[in-house]
Amino acid sequence: MSERELRISKIQNGTVIDHVPGGEALNVLAVLEIDGTGGETVSIGINVESDALGRKDVVKVEDRELSQEEVDVISLIAPDATINIIRDFDVVDKKRLDRPEAVTGVLACPNHDCITAGDEPVETRFEVLDDGVRCVYCETIIREDITDHIVR
Ligand SMILES: [Zn+2]
Repeated sequence: MSERELRISKIQNGTVIDHVPGGEALNVLAVLEIDGTGGETVSIGINVESDALGRKDVVKVEDRELSQEEVDVISLIAPDATINIIRDFDVVDKKRLDRPEAVTGVLACPNHDCITAGDEPVETRFEVLDDGVRCVYCETIIREDITDHIVR
């Protein structure tokens, strides 16, 4: 194992999200609603050298195993990510990333007239298209920079 691989230490229990596109690690955390206030121990490698990707990010969340639903949302911003569930330092499960049919509560609708942007709280919901996402209420489509619309 090279020095570079050692840079991020192994975790005993939790989830390792690897092969995230360089610079997207913080967006992955936003999708998981991890901002530090929950007390999770999180290790992040940003722009780590990678043979396959050039630069990649790695996120390790201790003592939390991601649900398939959370994993599927990550596929929107990191389609080639690999997700390993760790127990007692061993990989016990590798999750497959499937693009979800829809995502709820993760993204904000950019249309200020949308019902989800009003005073009455209506949870956002977007259908996932091949090349973007579409608000199910006002049909606004987000094609680029989806990560700019993540609810933080
Ligand atoms: Zn909308």
